[in-house]
Parts: sequence; C-alpha cells; structure tokens
Amino acid sequence: MIINPAASSADSTASTTADSPASSRLMNPQEENTNCVHRQAENLSLRPRFFDDYPGQNSLKDHLRVYVQASKLRSEPLDHVLLHGPPGLGKTTLARIIATELDVPFYSSSGPAVERPRDLVGILSGLEEGCVLFIDEIHRLVVQAEETLYTAMEDFAVDLVVGEGGSARSMGISLPPFTLVGATTKVSQLSRPLLSRFGIQEKLNYYDLTSLGDILRRSAQVLGMTVDEASLEKLALCSRGTPRIANRLLRRINDFATVEGMSSVTAELTTASLQRLGIDSQGLDDMDNRILKTMETRYRGGPVGIESLAVGLGEEPSTIEDVYEPFLVYRGYLVRTPRGRMLSDLGKKHLQESSALLA
Ligand code: ADP
Repeated sequence: MIINPAASSADSTASTTADSPASSRLMNPQEENTNCVHRQAENLSLRPRFFDDYPGQNSLKDHLRVYVQASKLRSEPLDHVLLHGPPGLGKTTLARIIATELDVPFYSSSGPAVERPRDLVGILSGLEEGCVLFIDEIHRLVVQAEETLYTAMEDFAVDLVVGEGGSARSMGISLPPFTLVGATTKVSQLSRPLLSRFGIQEKLNYYDLTSLGDILRRSAQVLGMTVDEASLEKLALCSRGTPRIANRLLRRINDFATVEGMSSVTAELTTASLQRLGIDSQGLDDMDNRILKTMETRYRGGPVGIESLAVGLGEEPSTIEDVYEPFLVYRGYLVRTPRGRMLSDLGKKHLQESSALLA
C-alpha cells in the first residue's frame, strides 16, 4: 500500500490513495489499510503543515530547517532522514512537513506493509523525482526488503530478480533521486547497515507543558472550541508528553461539552471529564496505576522483569514496554535497572497519594 496524500504538497489538504499500478499491486491486509487511511483522514486537519506551526522539538526543528534550506539552495534531494522516538510525538507529521517545506510530493508506506522485496521495488519504481518517501515503523521491514533499500538509498538503483529457477535473471532498475524518511519507535532494532545510510538522524522527545499547551490551543482553534487556560493546563499535564494524546483528550472533552450543551470548556468540565476517562491528576491512566500498584503489591517494588510484570498484569510484554513504560520512566515513577524494573520513591509517593484520595 502506498499513499500519496499530498501530490502537490504545498496546496493540497486532501488525503488520496495513489492509483498507480504499483500501488494496486501493493495492497496491505485489509485491516492495516483501513487503519492507515482512517488515521490519516481523522488527524489531517490537526497536523501542522509547516515548521512554524509545529510547537516543540526546537533543536530538531532548527536542524531540519537548515538541512531543508541547504538542499533547496543546492537543488539536490535532502539526505535520508531517520526520526525516532515514542509513538504519537509527531514523526509522521514532521515527515509531511519536510515534504511541504521542500515543496515535493509525499509518499507513505510502512514496514509491515512491505511483505516482500518485490513490494518495495514496486513502491520505489513508482516514485517521482525529488519526492519524500516516508516509511513508518521501518524497524519492521523484512530483512530482504531492507537489503533492497540499501542500494536504493545509496545509488538510487535496485536489482529485481525476474523469473524462477534456472531462468531467473537479475534486472537493474534505476530510480529517480528521492529522500527516504524513516520513522521508528525502536531505533535499537535497526541494523547497522540501514542505520548508517541515514545521513540525518533525529530523536523526538516528550513535550514539555508549554509546548503541549501551544499544541492544545492550536487544536482547539482548528476544532472551533473555546477552552479556558486552566483547562489547557490540566489537559497538558494529562497528555503524557504526547501530542496525539493531547488531541485525543481534547476531542473527548469536546464530546462531553457537546452532550452537556456547553458552548465553552471550563476547568470544572475538564476535571469531571478526565475523571470519567479514568485519568488521574498527574495524567496517569488506569493501566499506568495498575503497573505501579502491581509492582508494589506483588513484587515489593521490584526489581521485576518485564515478562513477570506482564504476566501479573495480563498484558503483552511489548505493550507495557512500548506504550506504558517509557512515560513512567520519563516521569520518574519507574526505574530500569540491570536486574529489572523498580518502583521509584516518586512512584511509591504517587500510589500513597492516590490511595489517600480514595480513602
Ligand atoms: P508519530 O508518527 O510520531 O506516531 P504523528 O505525527 O502521527 O506521530 O502525530 C500524532 C498526532 O499528534 C497528529 O494528530 C499530529 O497532528 C499531532 N502532533 C504531533 N506533533 C505535533 C506538534 N508538534 N504540534 C502539533 N500537533 C502535533
């Protein structure tokens, strides 16, 4: 599946699926497709389109601005870019911004969608000169496809094996110069050869409260909502440093306001809505609190291995590791040690305060 949501990146806001023969050959499994297209359509209006509309990640933005400007001045494609960091921090958004700022077409696919090297060749041979090809979850590319990418990135050429058995022959295909923007939540899972082919590598960090406040203010404006400053502060605190969560909470509060017949969002409504959503005063949800509580009650604060913790919680280890743990570590509630995860003093204090509130 390959998507070209902004064939003319500067003036298009519509999300369209490319109709090239390559794209129709490269259909994802149905579910993957639906999710992919749906997510893009739902969030498109809230996605900033230029560096100037994108709050936060300042040093990363400064770097990218320079690289984009240099590439335009030299009329050369931008070097390949790897963006890494937890989900929902804006990697896809940045990839689109890079294309918009370069004024080139944007194509998008993902690691799991590329099942065979042939799929990747189909995608690459359908690219336009100078475009941005975004591959989300690039750490999930199959090894053979990853190897195909090496020559594509370095020499703008790929080898395609045609035929089978004794009659099989290799056919060289040259590609138009393009910029690959890869995104991953697991940079450690990228092989050395792939990593070394990205001339630009940038890490996205969790957002501070000021940046989240700016993001929420902008999103409220786009959604036509009136939200008071106290609510914006509360929502920023409860967003786990993540714009995707900030926007999600804002939309849900908007739903509560609509149903209550309120034309503006007040601090009271925000507090009540967050409680109904199971989010505590520090922005931790039920699962975060269950993790901390399980560590305290079943493992006396740790150290505990991720597998045992996952069994205790009835969750997949990877869900805990990828979705919950990074934020709990970032906020200092949980510490990773060579012997396992440990509940920090701050984590214990949070549990005491939560149980005091419930008592
Ligand atoms: P990722 O690719 O890292 O998972 P996305 O780029 O899909 O994250 O961003 C998730 C959501 O958060 C999108 O709706 C996007 O509009 C919003 N978002 C991300 N970063 C920012 C930002 N800096 N400013 C405003 N909105 C942002």
